[in-house]
Amino acid sequence: MAAAVYFSEKFSEDAISRLFERAMADTAGRIGTGDRVAVKVHFGEEGNTRFVSPANLRPLLSCLAKRNADPFLTDANALYRGRRHNATDHLEIARKHGFCALGVPVLIADGERGEEESVIPIAGRIFRKVRIARRIAEARALVVVSHFKGHILFGFGGAIKNLGMGCGSRAGKLEMHSTLKPSVGEGCTHCGRCVEVCPADAILLGEDRAAIDPAKCEGCASCIAACEFDAVEIPWMALASSAVMERTAEYALGAVGGKPCVCVTFVNNITKDCDCMADSELIGRDVGVVASVDPVACEQAAFDLVRERHGNVDIFRKATRVDGTHILGYAESIGLGGRDYELTRL
Ligand code: SF4
Ligand code: SF4
Repeated sequence: MAAAVYFSEKFSEDAISRLFERAMADTAGRIGTGDRVAVKVHFGEEGNTRFVSPANLRPLLSCLAKRNADPFLTDANALYRGRRHNATDHLEIARKHGFCALGVPVLIADGERGEEESVIPIAGRIFRKVRIARRIAEARALVVVSHFKGHILFGFGGAIKNLGMGCGSRAGKLEMHSTLKPSVGEGCTHCGRCVEVCPADAILLGEDRAAIDPAKCEGCASCIAACEFDAVEIPWMALASSAVMERTAEYALGAVGGKPCVCVTFVNNITKDCDCMADSELIGRDVGVVASVDPVACEQAAFDLVRERHGNVDIFRKATRVDGTHILGYAESIGLGGRDYELTRL
């Protein structure tokens, strides 16, 4: 059966509110009084201005307040080092970008160094369990607020990437990105901090630098977070982008985990790169806002609307040379949602 997707070309408070109410109604009252609702957002990396504005969250939070739900804004720490790699800095950037003035708690979902996670069983083809940031896993319901934009590995990113990569703990993110273990590069100062945090005794201090034993390494990514000298190298290019997409779709399955879930995707300020980077070039025109309880249908509709707005051209593939639609087919095949949808224009 085709999933219901709601679309508005307007970004006004009233339009966002109506859109969200319609999608919320499709959860059949499964979000209500006292429900802890994780509102998954991206607070934007230092120097980025294209992330979904906190002002656009107000109507969503008002709707949740009317239902006496108990929402909090959240994101999980990033794998790379930047202003979002530990909870202290991450909260500071959230405050700087205006997310702490909305009257609801702002919580980093996987703790100070990305170590707080829940292991969720899934019936995936690659994974039988995934590592989801604990506060998201423990929430009763999810609202996934995404910015639809380009991405160097995914072609484009919206609800599915936000659910999968965005809700994974740091170890989960490493698992999605690579089958290889981290290694120590030239910047090592021999400080020994990584040795202290490694739960697997996999790191030894050699003569000039630390060394990771891949046979012992459990891929927890603690050493990446602990190293202040950026010396622990993440094997980013160990997998083809299609493989990273498939892993991310399986993580998205675990993040939803049978909870009521509403996706709201803002299709504006379409950049070539994601919000983990400082601003990159705009590659398309603004389209509108899409909402659905089906993450795959929401993503497919956002993609189709962008293509329609740009003369049937896949502007993401043109900019990144990656066919991002691979994740849609894979996500559907594992039961995350369906690509068929019925669009209601509000
Ligand atoms: S924490 Fe970083 S700098 Fe310190 S020993 Fe480990 S890899 Fe080297
Ligand atoms: S990823 Fe975790 S287990 Fe592996 S070396 Fe680093 S700290 Fe140790």
